[in-house]
Amino acid sequence: MNKQEKDEYLERLWVMEESGQDTVEELKRTMGSYFDNEKLEGIANEKLVTLSESGTKVVLTKNGRKLSRQIIRAHRIGERLLYDVYGKDFEQGACEFEHTTTIELVDGICTLLGHPKECPHGLPIPEGECCRNYAETAHNVVKHLNELEVGQSARVAYINCRSDGQMHRLNGFQIKPGATITLHQRTPCHVVECEGASIALDEEIVSNICVWSTSPEFKPEQRQSLQAKELGNKAWWKRLFNFN
Ligand SMILES: [Zn+2]
Ligand SMILES: [Zn+2]
Ligand SMILES: [Zn+2]
Repeated sequence: MNKQEKDEYLERLWVMEESGQDTVEELKRTMGSYFDNEKLEGIANEKLVTLSESGTKVVLTKNGRKLSRQIIRAHRIGERLLYDVYGKDFEQGACEFEHTTTIELVDGICTLLGHPKECPHGLPIPEGECCRNYAETAHNVVKHLNELEVGQSARVAYINCRSDGQMHRLNGFQIKPGATITLHQRTPCHVVECEGASIALDEEIVSNICVWSTSPEFKPEQRQSLQAKELGNKAWWKRLFNFN
């Protein structure tokens, strides 16, 4: 069994665990025609999963969970990068990325994106070494737009959108990573200003927009120019995802 095949089992098992599932039946269902009982037994022999005596339940071992965590982290960081840069079509690229990347590269991208906590689907991104170090040195670097004081401005770091429609709508208002946004009013509805236009947004959308906190120890201009420079040079990340 090659690494990519093994990764696929570990990835599915992590996602199953997140939703409280532990049956081989469910694993079969999510893997479809890729499921192969011999391969599952192979992974069990490597002590990455434990099968119940009856063979109907499957759980990750400590080692298996450690590996799955890395794969899931790479997958969701990859999605975050593609989504923030491209707006959509991130699914396939992210799934290729996770099998070829290294922990260092994932941490590098994580840092570049400001240590995001969720993938574009709203699923948690497991923390990396970089996130833990960062949390210790700088608190609350990214916060939700609705945590700003009325009248305060900040730069958009990233947006956790669950639908393309929402994303396109925000894009139409020029609300995207790097844009400066001001919170004008909180009640009866949220009113923000972006690129000279006043826009009314509902609570859910406002809480999905994450902005750079302007704490004195942190300079958003530096990060933005880094982000723009790195992402502007599209060749490197397109290569990462096997894009042409
Ligand atoms: Zn994947
Ligand atoms: Zn996702
Ligand atoms: Zn991080």
